[in-house]
Amino acid sequence: MSICTPPRAAIVACVADATHDEPHREGLAQRLNWLRAGVLGANDGIVSVAAVVVGVAGATSHSGAILLAGLAALVGGAVSMALGEYVSVSSQRDTERALIAKERRELREMPAEELEELTDLYRAKGLSADTARQVAIELTAHDALAAHLEVELKIDQADVVSPWYAAFASAVAFTVGALLPLAAILLPPEGWRVPITFVAVIAALAVTGAVAAHLGGASRLRAMVRTVIGGALALVATFGIGTLLGTAGLG
Ligand SMILES: [Zn+2]
Repeated sequence: MSICTPPRAAIVACVADATHDEPHREGLAQRLNWLRAGVLGANDGIVSVAAVVVGVAGATSHSGAILLAGLAALVGGAVSMALGEYVSVSSQRDTERALIAKERRELREMPAEELEELTDLYRAKGLSADTARQVAIELTAHDALAAHLEVELKIDQADVVSPWYAAFASAVAFTVGALLPLAAILLPPEGWRVPITFVAVIAALAVTGAVAAHLGGASRLRAMVRTVIGGALALVATFGIGTLLGTAGLG
């Protein structure tokens, strides 16, 4: 039902290389990831609910039927988004926890090999053998686990995201997006419903496409064209089907 898949890994991923001396950079990157996921979630809400209400409006002019179908699409979509996000963030968290546990065990059972490994990783980053060894020794003394997680696995324990939070956020984003086509189809007079919804959805998709691309550092124009064409095709398809079924007497 979605034309854009929210970057689930991006939600969870954070800037592992940012040090704790630079809280601003780390916080900003994370906030941008959340914002981008939110915009894409809203995008899903706009397209899927618009497609449903326009399809029903093609078959019937009955406002109650359009409202009912739109609300069902909103609730179904929001729950499905939340569920997908919950499952995906949970499994990512499980993977990270398993890696953390493995690293902890290795540090306990073979500290010498682990120190050697950390030294090699810093040498690979460009430090001289002596400096790499010194860095590895000092980091191991300070917080061996955090040092290994950062350099070896690019995990920061403080950034492990709650699946409940991720699920809630994506459901809210979808709902916010879904409210636009619902309002656009229900508020105008009958003859204007579908054209106004079409225009409102296209305009909103141009904005969400551009914002998401900007946040993700991609080409704005290309993203706008893609989301707008995708959304327009969805609306034309469901309106066509609704009109056909309505003419056939199913409205
Ligand atoms: Zn290690």
